Amino acid sequence: MHGHQRTADMLSVEEARERILALVPVLEAEERPLLETMGQVLAQEVVAAFDIPPADNSAMDGYAVRYEDIRGATAGQPKELPVIGHVAAGQLATHEVRRDTAIRIMTGAPIPPGADTVVPFEETDEEERKAAGRALDSVAIRQEVPQGASVRPVGEDVRKGDVVLLKGAVLRPSEIGVLASLGYDRVRVIRRPVVAIVATGDELLEPGQPVSPGKIYDSNSYSVAASVTRHGGIPRVLGIARDTLESMNRKLDEGLAADLLITSAGVSKGDYDMVKDVLAQRGEIAFWSVRMRPAKPLAFGILRGADGRSVPHLGLPGNPVSAMVAFEELGRPALLKMLGRTRLDRPTIEAVLEEPIVNHDGRRVYARAIVSRRDGTYYARLSGPQGSNLLTSMARANGLAICPEDVPVMEAGQVVQVRMLDWSEEAL
Ligand code: AMP
Ligand code: MG
Repeated sequence: MHGHQRTADMLSVEEARERILALVPVLEAEERPLLETMGQVLAQEVVAAFDIPPADNSAMDGYAVRYEDIRGATAGQPKELPVIGHVAAGQLATHEVRRDTAIRIMTGAPIPPGADTVVPFEETDEEERKAAGRALDSVAIRQEVPQGASVRPVGEDVRKGDVVLLKGAVLRPSEIGVLASLGYDRVRVIRRPVVAIVATGDELLEPGQPVSPGKIYDSNSYSVAASVTRHGGIPRVLGIARDTLESMNRKLDEGLAADLLITSAGVSKGDYDMVKDVLAQRGEIAFWSVRMRPAKPLAFGILRGADGRSVPHLGLPGNPVSAMVAFEELGRPALLKMLGRTRLDRPTIEAVLEEPIVNHDGRRVYARAIVSRRDGTYYARLSGPQGSNLLTSMARANGLAICPEDVPVMEAGQVVQVRMLDWSEEAL
């Protein structure tokens, strides 16, 4: 029996999300090669074993001098100094800069003892001497620079003993660079969740197979797998389960090896195909109606295998946009939690709505939108028709504009919250 379901009986998106998050664990830590840890969460504190930079060094190509020897130098009254040595990056400073001498120095090279200031080539006769083929055994300083100019002090970036990164830091390119600068080539991180992905339905074809009358290609496995990759998980696309007990059970068994199993289709109310029967037999799986549009029907719970293994299972709706929006709002936070992340929300902005969003049944509407910025203000317009089967309007969108449950219509000109799927305006 199924009839019109009262919205009061439905779960809010937040309730659905809390129930899911309560059942997915933060995964354990492991040591990984640094370059593989992009987007992962650091599971160790990082303390500097040495100073960075390791010594006072030059910020410019120029001449290391004693400030008092170049004070007062001008183009009209340059200071002529003998050049008593050269030092390049990676070398040690051996010579000392004594009174009224200079050492030619390259960017990154250690400041020689005695020197306290670097005069860049630009403030000397470097160019002319080179152009004229003259020897580099003396230099004319044509401009006084402040004491300490172009000297980068030892430990300016990091001091030995500093806690440079805390446990829980999300590794972005800059953190990965910092770790490398501290000499790390491996680092402890929360491991990436392996996400098994199963499509269900007799109508489905694998992409790559020839088109066939009455069939459609499985797009959900691909959009979901790509989302998993984008957010730092490892997708395992297991292919299509047919609407038979045997086929379903076989695919679900394969999914038990993963940290999270995601299926699509077969979970809607009136739909009574294999998926629901099989899931109901195999674990504690609840079938929910979530107060959202698209993506109302959803399954979630723990799936168990005959051998005692179990895996959290998220059953997405079949329609391609429903599957993606449900993944966004409910699958993505679960994935991020497993990765050890604590900020689970997509960034949300406020935009001026350029056309109405109608909400006719008290569900939260996630409207596919194109957000653009003009004169410092964000504007949102719909990316096309909003049927939950219309995947190309999802492809044109860079955000999901949200009309709240209790608002029957949002008019053009109103301010709308938009979950940003992408910041780039490339797709628009
Ligand atoms: P169902 O939940 O099985 O009733 O499926 C709802 C709708 O989604 C139907 O039109 C299905 O053909 C479609 N659908 C189901 N699975 C997929 C998939 N993997 N890729 C694309 N469309 C799908
Ligand atoms: Mg189906």
